[in-house]
Amino acid sequence: PPDVEELGRATWTFLHTTAAYYPEKPTQTQRVNMLSLLRALPVLYPCSVCAQHLGENMKTRPPDVSTRAGLSRWLCEQHNEVNGRLGKETFECTVEKLDERWKDGPSD
Ligand code: FAD
Repeated sequence: PPDVEELGRATWTFLHTTAAYYPEKPTQTQRVNMLSLLRALPVLYPCSVCAQHLGENMKTRPPDVSTRAGLSRWLCEQHNEVNGRLGKETFECTVEKLDERWKDGPSD
């Protein structure tokens, strides 16, 4: 079975980075594809408990693919939900903090 921690770090890196570079005004094609990418995770993610939790969370809180900020925040909140369950720290879901971590790096 895959290493759930390594898989998780790699997947969060991919997802948060993709959200950080998602367009401010995505086209319909970009939205549809992002939604497909996210909806595939509960079906295909190779950690079945993770996939199950994500699927439940996505039912109560559907992904926001309408803007870069909306998507970044939605993912951040999903990640925080997992952090809470695992006893990890909560991340502050502002565009500033998210861009610093996943796009621009720290200023100065
Ligand atoms: P990670 O949680 O992997 O975080 C990597 C980096 O992201 C952190 O160092 C930090 O800089 C940054 N970060 C932290 N929080 C946020 C945030 N909210 N927004 C943006 N950036 C942030 N593991 C389980 O044991 N059980 C599960 O049910 C489970 N479900 C998962 C569901 C999904 C969809 C994914 C992708 C992973 C899941 N994992 C689960 C794995 C888990 O989330 C961690 O990836 C893993 O435990 C390694 O944790 P870590 O402390 O190295 O940092």
